[in-house]
Amino acid sequence: MDGPAMSIDWKALGDETADLLRRYLMIDTTNPPGNELAGATFLAGVLAGEGIPSETVESAPGRANLMARLRGDGSLPGIVLHHHIDVVYADRRYWTVDPFGGVLRDGYLYGRGAIDMKSTGIMHLAALLALKRAKAPLKRDLIFLATADEEAGSAYGARFVADQRRDWIAGAEYAISELGGIETHAGFKAPLGHIVISEKTGLPLTLTAKSQPGHGSMPWPDTAPHRLIRALNRLLASERPLRVLPEVQEYFVRLASVLPEPEGRGYDDLARSLRDDAFRARFLTRRLHAAMVRTTFAVTMLHGSEKRNVIPPEAWAGIDCRMLAGDEPAEIVAWVKGVIDDDQIEVTVTGEPKVPNLSPPDTALYKSLAEALRRRAPEAVVAPEILVGFTDNWVFRRCGLHGYGWSPFIMDEGEWGRVHGNDERLSLENIHAGARCYTEMLLDVAGA
Ligand SMILES: [Zn+2]
Repeated sequence: MDGPAMSIDWKALGDETADLLRRYLMIDTTNPPGNELAGATFLAGVLAGEGIPSETVESAPGRANLMARLRGDGSLPGIVLHHHIDVVYADRRYWTVDPFGGVLRDGYLYGRGAIDMKSTGIMHLAALLALKRAKAPLKRDLIFLATADEEAGSAYGARFVADQRRDWIAGAEYAISELGGIETHAGFKAPLGHIVISEKTGLPLTLTAKSQPGHGSMPWPDTAPHRLIRALNRLLASERPLRVLPEVQEYFVRLASVLPEPEGRGYDDLARSLRDDAFRARFLTRRLHAAMVRTTFAVTMLHGSEKRNVIPPEAWAGIDCRMLAGDEPAEIVAWVKGVIDDDQIEVTVTGEPKVPNLSPPDTALYKSLAEALRRRAPEAVVAPEILVGFTDNWVFRRCGLHGYGWSPFIMDEGEWGRVHGNDERLSLENIHAGARCYTEMLLDVAGA
């Protein structure tokens, strides 16, 4: 890197980034209630101190969203750098430090949000500050966006911004959010870099059976709960056809290259390998891998009677269905109706169906993200990833942006396992190198 990057004091930027993150982690934005306004006020203060104006809007009292734009020359479309201000609950009984104490211990900064995802927000902020100070000429606008409520469905955050403040993201073609990064593993031959290009999307389904109510002492085969159980049995015994998206195939090819023999055998042509019964059985025992090649149905809620001796007139089951990109809600509902094969059971979509989405792994931004990961860990193999959960990126993909999940952090499974868990933390090495990596990546893709 030359040009503006030459004038950046990376050591000083790393120290400043660690300090900003420590202060941000000390603001309790547990959702509920969120209180993201406190976080937004902090961010606005830091931006203002650098002469970068920002705008804060509350979607409800205390539920703040903030936007700041670092202008480019407009020759290329902008990039939205978005993170959520809110964090999930931390059970203090199981933490060895105060989750909002900003504790630095043994080279790690501890706190709820240290990974998910105040750290990424601070990377965005640090990069913006560095580029502003270096007076780096930009081709693209960089849009810093901090949102509320991601951990509870985004109604007060990303979805509010998409509906009410669409002008905030005007002129952008890309969005970058959380996850991704470099995974190290004792069993890997090389680190695996992840760039999230798609997320499975939820289709909340409810199956409802209705029948005559009666006394529990005199049951008959077709009570509402009995019909429902048989329908669920048929659903669970059925399997959606496995489908290997080209991007998933690509992921497994890259994964195979870091696995010791014979672990990745058959990953080079997954669709063909999955036609082999033994391979298929083995492959599907890994829950994560199984979820990457099919639309899934998890029965998560069951409701019948309020009383043991009353046969209820109605019984229902809530199903967490996650669709693979390319599946259509209407087709899934028709398939479910077909396999349960009972006209008297109602199948309803109970919530906003989200259209499955995928951003291509061949854009200019994807290439910059991949190169940045290889600069961070030169031996890393970079793979596109389809997330089986979801983040705010689906909202911005629905707005027409290509959305990616990316971070410059190098972590093993143990560190990742702290997300939503106990003693969430991020190493100072990741903070320092991450701030540099993020800034250089943005210079690469947006620098003039
Ligand atoms: Zn998150």
